[in-house]
Amino acid sequence: MPSVLDAPYFHDEAAAYEKLEGIIWPNGPVCPHCGEGERVSRMQGKATRIGLLKCYACRKQFRVTVGTIFEGSHIPLHTWLQAVYLMVSSKKGVSSNQLHRTMGITLKSAWFMSHRIREAMRETHGKGTPKLGGPGGIIEADETYIGGKAANRAYGSIPPKQAVASLVERGEGSQLPRPERDCQQPLSDRCPPYPRGQPVYDRRHQRLLRDRPDL
Ligand SMILES: [Zn+2]
Repeated sequence: MPSVLDAPYFHDEAAAYEKLEGIIWPNGPVCPHCGEGERVSRMQGKATRIGLLKCYACRKQFRVTVGTIFEGSHIPLHTWLQAVYLMVSSKKGVSSNQLHRTMGITLKSAWFMSHRIREAMRETHGKGTPKLGGPGGIIEADETYIGGKAANRAYGSIPPKQAVASLVERGEGSQLPRPERDCQQPLSDRCPPYPRGQPVYDRRHQRLLRDRPDL
């Protein structure tokens, strides 16, 4: 019986891209920038990076890794697939150290990959994040601004502060940081997609921000 680890996509970069494309695009490539599925073609040429495609609707290039945990990484995709396989096939999980030793990669790479893979395996992540709340659930909301003081900068322009809003469900421990650039609106007006029919409390003041059944 052949070993699962003999699969070409664990060893060959082109095969790894082919495998991932088959999973993410079962009906053919789709441009992640504009959603085009027809006017898309593979970039040819010796110097072209593996898996590079071009969309002729928006004129942008892309690879299947765009929008995935593999995006923007210098680690080869077939190495990523090995790490994913090891982590999802192990009942008790795999530590970064174990990935480092088993795969012969640096501890830094192993740490980076295992964090991204674990993050992807979390149930509350990305588009599939379940809404907070439910009957009797209580949502707490808070916001803060992150960024240094202008007075502490020796030179250069003052970067804008980043607003971060978070919603927490009491007893659940789930939290949704929502960076928002537009800070003009009060938080209570910016969180409606998440709590459904629950009162929303301001964490600092324990003030009931909102108790409307139509949320
Ligand atoms: Zn496009």
